[in-house]
Amino acid sequence: MNYEAALDTALQRLHDEGRYRTFINIERRKDQFPHAVWTKPDGSQKDITVWCGNDYLGMGQHPVVLGAMHEALDSTGAGSGGTRNISGTTVYHKRLEAELADLHGKEAALVFSSAYIANDATLSTLRTIFPGLIIYSDALNHASMIEGVRRGNGPKRIFRHNDVAHLRELIAADDPAAPKMIAFESIYSMDGDFGPIREICDLAEEVGALTYIDEVHAVGMYGARGAGVAERDGQMHRIDIINATLGKAFGVFGGYIAASAKMVDAVRSYAPGFIFTTSLPPAVAAGAAASVKFLKTAEGQMLRDKQQLHARILKSRLKGMGLPIIDHGSHIVPVHVGDPIHCKMLSDMLLERFGVYVQPINFPTVPRGTERLRFTPSPVHDPKEIDGLVHAMDELWRHCALNRAEMSA
Ligand SMILES: *Cc1c(COP(=O)(O)O)cnc(C)c1O
Repeated sequence: MNYEAALDTALQRLHDEGRYRTFINIERRKDQFPHAVWTKPDGSQKDITVWCGNDYLGMGQHPVVLGAMHEALDSTGAGSGGTRNISGTTVYHKRLEAELADLHGKEAALVFSSAYIANDATLSTLRTIFPGLIIYSDALNHASMIEGVRRGNGPKRIFRHNDVAHLRELIAADDPAAPKMIAFESIYSMDGDFGPIREICDLAEEVGALTYIDEVHAVGMYGARGAGVAERDGQMHRIDIINATLGKAFGVFGGYIAASAKMVDAVRSYAPGFIFTTSLPPAVAAGAAASVKFLKTAEGQMLRDKQQLHARILKSRLKGMGLPIIDHGSHIVPVHVGDPIHCKMLSDMLLERFGVYVQPINFPTVPRGTERLRFTPSPVHDPKEIDGLVHAMDELWRHCALNRAEMSA
């Protein structure tokens, strides 16, 4: 085989389809987020505002988090030095897991290298634990859940996005005695819409299925203590396994599941993606624990309120100009563009001319024809910042002669 030619073909295909990914090289400045410095390919630099980050509450620069990390770093050093099983379980990991179990009102929690790994490792391992397990998976589930469901190599059913009637049909067609699990998300991050948690829990109870929810885009931000949408809706106790990340609203790094002590013990004992890898650096675990703890408090609630307020302001102002906003009432603000070329062009111009950084979201992250810009206002994107963004969008929409007032939900 001509390996060079095959690489060229693979890369050229992405260029041809306008979906070759270029990473923007940015450096965030502590205490100044959402401001950052963009280093261009030619080495020159420009001040920018980050509008597409997942550090949703600015916890990545919060003094409480940084303080905990400094303290752990100075007292224990850099890495954990081992897998959880072989010398890599520290007081910091145990403390973090206790903090997370408490957050979700579960008996236990288990920390992984990331929420991607947590989804992949847990979902695939559950098939070993429950032989014949049928997994019902929402069509828009995140890549990490799709991977976990697929890798387990057992029966799977994909139900239409948020369509509980379809889910019911699929379940009805299967053996009532077969073990079952429904896997879905509380907030789907590309549209910002909510999963029907209560309805899915009702159905799961009726048919004796386990429930598995990904709260990655909700933890820290919803519920009185920041446990997510299931907490907000009073459904947390009805979910068997909650998955989430420490890398988005918690502002640090890592992922986890929270569940019953027995469920966590089984996953801990069987999941290769948990067992055969170095545990989180203690400083990372310490920072994450401090962030989770802080966001349970009234001060955390102030950040949540401010984030929601900024999201509402941004949406209403963009809508007021007739831009096609997808609005499901969450903190995520997607603006529909509809083709990859315009989407990339808008993103490039926002960055170059206005210092507004928003990454274009193209296929395969979203279906073709639904390409979009996805803004994530935070408590630290103040009204002045919002003003700048709104004016930039207005000007560019006019410049590109794009449609207004289509597809507003
Ligand atoms: C980002 C994301 C993950 C993965 O989280 P990481 O901790 O970054 O690996 C999982 N699920 C969803 C829905 C996500 O958006």
